[in-house]
Amino acid sequence: MRLLIMGRPGAGKGTQAVNIREYYNIPHISTGDMFRAAIKNQTKLGVLAKSYMDQGLLVPDEVTIGIVNERLQEEDCKNGFLLDGFPRNLDQAKALDKFLKEHNIALDAVLDINVAPEILIDRMVGRRVCKTCGATFHVKFNKPKVEGVCDNCGSPLIQRNDDTYETAHNRLKVYDDNTAPLLAYYSEQNLLKTVNGDQDFAKVFADIKEVLSK
Ligand code: ADP
Ligand code: AMP
Repeated sequence: MRLLIMGRPGAGKGTQAVNIREYYNIPHISTGDMFRAAIKNQTKLGVLAKSYMDQGLLVPDEVTIGIVNERLQEEDCKNGFLLDGFPRNLDQAKALDKFLKEHNIALDAVLDINVAPEILIDRMVGRRVCKTCGATFHVKFNKPKVEGVCDNCGSPLIQRNDDTYETAHNRLKVYDDNTAPLLAYYSEQNLLKTVNGDQDFAKVFADIKEVLSK
C-alpha cells in the first residue's frame, strides 16, 4: 500500500499514521519528524530547517524533495509507505510523481483528514509530544496517564516550538496558500479519499479503514 496522508496542521495525521502503520504494516515517513530529528542532532539540515519551522514556513523544496527521494529508496519502502506532511505544494507533488514514474510505482490512495480550521488552533497549542519516542498526546483530548510523562516510554512530554498561537495561525495560512490546491490535483487523478477528522480518534480510524477498503 502506497499512501499519502493529508490534512491541515493539527488534523490528526501523525496520530492516525501510527494506526495505519501498524494495520497495513508500512513505514510512516513524516517530513516534519525527519526535520525535528535533524534539529535534535544539530545537523546542517537541522539548522536550516529550524529557521523555517519556527516561523511556520515551508522548508525549501530542493532540500525537502531530496530527503524524501532518498528515504523512499530505502529497503523498508519496497512494499509500501505512508507519506505524512509531503507533498505540501504543487512542485513537491510533481517531484513525487516524477520519482514514482521513474521507479515504476504508483500511489494507491491519498487520504485527506478533513477538520475545520477553527478547532485546529486548540489542537496544536494543546499538543504534547514525547521527547524520546515522539508519541503524541493532548492536554485535553488525549491526556497521558501521568501529566507531562509519556505513557509509552516514561520520558518527559514537551510542547513543539511551532505549536504557539502565532505560528499555528501562520501554518494554517501556509496550508491554504500552498497545500490546499493539492486536493484538486489528487482528486483529478481519482486518488483522493476524504474522512471527517472531527470525530473520536477511533471513529476516524474506522472511517480510514473503510475508505481504503473500497
Ligand atoms: P497532525 O499530525 O495532523 O499535525 P496530530 O496527529 O499531531 O496532527 O494531532 C494534533 C493534536 O490533536 C494532538 O495533540 C492529538 O492528540 C490531537 N488529536 C488528534 N486527533 C484528534 C481527534 N480526533 N480528536 C481530538 N484531538 C485529536
Ligand atoms: P509537521 O510535522 O508536518 O506539522 O511539519 C512541521 C514543519 O516542518 C512545517 O511547518 C514545515 O516548516 C516543515 N515541513 C514539514 N514537511 C514539509 C514539507 N513537505 N515541505 C516543506 N516544509 C515542511
